[in-house]
Amino acid sequence: MKINSDYPINKIVEIEFSEILKDYNILVTKKIKKEYNKEFLVDSDPNTCRFCGKSYPEVKFENEAHTIPEFMGNKNLFSKFECDTCNNSYFSLFENEMANYMLSHNTMSGTKSKNNKIPKYKLKGQPQIINGPEKILISKVPDSALKEASDGSLSIEIKIPSYIPEFIYRCLVKIGISLVPEKNIAVYKDTISWLMNLEIEQNLKPFMLFSMYPFDLQTSEIICTILELKDECTKNFPHSIFFLSYNNFAFQIHIPYSLKEKIGMNLNVIPFAFPMTLDLSKNFEGMRTNNIIDLSSKERIRNEIVTYTIIGDRN
Ligand SMILES: [Zn+2]
Repeated sequence: MKINSDYPINKIVEIEFSEILKDYNILVTKKIKKEYNKEFLVDSDPNTCRFCGKSYPEVKFENEAHTIPEFMGNKNLFSKFECDTCNNSYFSLFENEMANYMLSHNTMSGTKSKNNKIPKYKLKGQPQIINGPEKILISKVPDSALKEASDGSLSIEIKIPSYIPEFIYRCLVKIGISLVPEKNIAVYKDTISWLMNLEIEQNLKPFMLFSMYPFDLQTSEIICTILELKDECTKNFPHSIFFLSYNNFAFQIHIPYSLKEKIGMNLNVIPFAFPMTLDLSKNFEGMRTNNIIDLSSKERIRNEIVTYTIIGDRN
């Protein structure tokens, strides 16, 4: 593999990437930047929804359905095969939960959402965060939310809005399914049945690898990749893995109910950490944090706290 770049390449990551590709094929990979032209994903039958299977005029296709949620900064990629009903009344439920989960992170990272604006973080009784043109303004911080470490760094504890973990998983699976090329979609027909029915339980435990880089490192691109296990691979790995990164965040899950899954095996659903763009630079080695998060609960999580460490100017 040859990588061209203007910074020193992290050779370890290059080797790890080659190792992943011994077991997996890349089914699809997509890079989105805000300066790119708008792109519309289409199926051969333009009047049928890929998800609910209904056709026009029973369902309409008038919305510009974002393939990747707008709160992740997507202004370019849209799905023509997602009907207005699925878009407005169903998938929005999942996206809202993930937007809640990411709200304070998106504010801190300066990810632009609707109307090209960075969301403000404003929750009752919580510090306020506004990401302005020159600095991040954190106000109304109660003393109890501040912690000073022995090295002098200051950390601030913030309560994030409530969210349903299982809906975050569904939000990510839906993005993945939207990116599967039409000729490969048959393998995921049970995935779509599961996605459209909240009563069907997962066939594998839904874990998410959630990765972050410090907020001062930014990429202005969104990257999505779907990997499929090679037929000849006998390892205890899931058939289909979906990776998404935007700005300084990355998410990695397995896509459930692939028809090629080795059902009955206790699979290792996170067999590797797929490289992020920032990983490729040797300059940022060791700065990525990884957390494996169990998304199986359908119970709403309230009062979850995230901690940010502030380095530098405290004005
Ligand atoms: Zn639909």
